[in-house]
Amino acid sequence: MSAVNLGLPRLRVEPATSEPRPDNPALIDTFGRVATDLRVSLTDRCNLRCTYCMPADGLPWLPGKDVLTDEELLRLLRIAVERLGITDIRLTGGEPMLRPGLEDLIGQIAALRPRPRLSMTTNGIGLAKRAARIAAAGLDRINVSLDTVDRETFRTISRRDRLSHVLDGLAAARAAGLDPVKINAVLLRGVNEHEAASLLRFSLDHGYHLRFIEQMPLDAQHGWNRRDMVTASEILDLLRAEFDLTPSPGERGGAPAERWLVDGGPGDVGVIASVTRPFCAACERTRLTADGAVRSCLFSNAETDLRGLLRAGHDDEAVADAWRMTMWGKLAGHEINEAGFAQPLRPMSAIGG
Ligand code: SAM
Ligand code: SF4
Repeated sequence: MSAVNLGLPRLRVEPATSEPRPDNPALIDTFGRVATDLRVSLTDRCNLRCTYCMPADGLPWLPGKDVLTDEELLRLLRIAVERLGITDIRLTGGEPMLRPGLEDLIGQIAALRPRPRLSMTTNGIGLAKRAARIAAAGLDRINVSLDTVDRETFRTISRRDRLSHVLDGLAAARAAGLDPVKINAVLLRGVNEHEAASLLRFSLDHGYHLRFIEQMPLDAQHGWNRRDMVTASEILDLLRAEFDLTPSPGERGGAPAERWLVDGGPGDVGVIASVTRPFCAACERTRLTADGAVRSCLFSNAETDLRGLLRAGHDDEAVADAWRMTMWGKLAGHEINEAGFAQPLRPMSAIGG
C-alpha cells in the first residue's frame, strides 16, 4: 500500500489577527463575512478511488475511536444551529453513504431547531436502493458526483466499474423527490474534457443541474498541476461549441458557481472556478471533519480540535466559543495563486469536499 502520511494537525488556531472579536454569537470573521453554511464530513473512507482525489490503494483511514460518535456529532451540529447561526448543513466525506446509520443521523439532524436545510454530496454508489429512505428521513437536496457518462472513462477516473450504479442512483434521487438533483463534474485534461458537452446534454435531458468544478490542489498524492487543470474559461469554450450560454439572472450570493442559462433556459449549467476566479470574498462556509476538527477553509493549514473539548467535558458555550475563534481567524482567501502557496496537510477526502 502506498503510504501517504497525512501528518494531521490537531492545533488550536490562534486568530490571524490581534483585532479583538466583537461580542457576536455568529461565525463572523475580520473581513465581514458570516459563515452560515456547514460542510460536515461523516467519514474519510471511500469506495471509489478517483485519480484527482486519492491514490489507487486508498489512504490510511482514521481509526474508529477518532471519528466522532453520532452523539458527539449531533451535539456539535446542535451547537452550530442553536448558537452559531448555521442555516445549511451539507453531509459529505469521504463517501457519506459509508457512515453506518446515515438515515437515522439525517432524521436527527432534520429534527434540530431551527431546522437547517439539509443536503449531501455523494458519489452515488448505493443511492439507487437508499434514495427514498434518505429523502424520507429529511434530506432536502443532493449533489451526485459524475465526471463522465462513458463506462470506460468512468472506470479510468474512479478506478472502479460503477457507472451504472451512479446513473441508477441519480434516477432514484429524482424519483424520491430530492430537489434539485445536482451533478458535480471535474474535467481532467486528456481524459474527459472532450465530454463537457455530452455531460451537459445528459444533465439537461434528465432534469439534473450540472456544475463543473475546477480541479484543485487537494489530492492526497499532491499530483495537481496548473497545466493539467481545465480552467473555467476552457470549460465555457467547450460548452459554447454546442450550446448558447447566457449569464443566469439572479443573485449569486455566497454560491460558488457562476451560472449560465443554456439555449435561453430553463436548463442551466454552473462553473465553480475555485482556482482561476476565487470567490473567497463571499465565502459563507465553515467545515467540520469526521474526527471533529473545525476548519475555516478547505485550504486552512490549521484547525481546532472540538472533539478534544467535548471529550474533556467542556460545556456547549466553550465549544461554541472555540468554533467562533477559529472562524474569526479565517484568512482572506486560499492563496493558490500566490508564490508561497502550500497545499494543506489534509486532502479533500479527509476534510469533506
Ligand atoms: N465522495 C463524495 C463525492 O465524490 O461526491 C463526497 C466527497 S468528494 C471529496 C466531494 C466533491 O469533491 C466531489 O464532487 C469530487 O468530485 C470533488 N473533488 C475531489 N477532489 C477534488 C479536487 N482535487 N478538485 C476539485 N474537486 C474535487
Ligand atoms: Fe471518493 Fe469522492 Fe474522492 Fe471520488 S471524489 S475518491 S468518490 S471521496
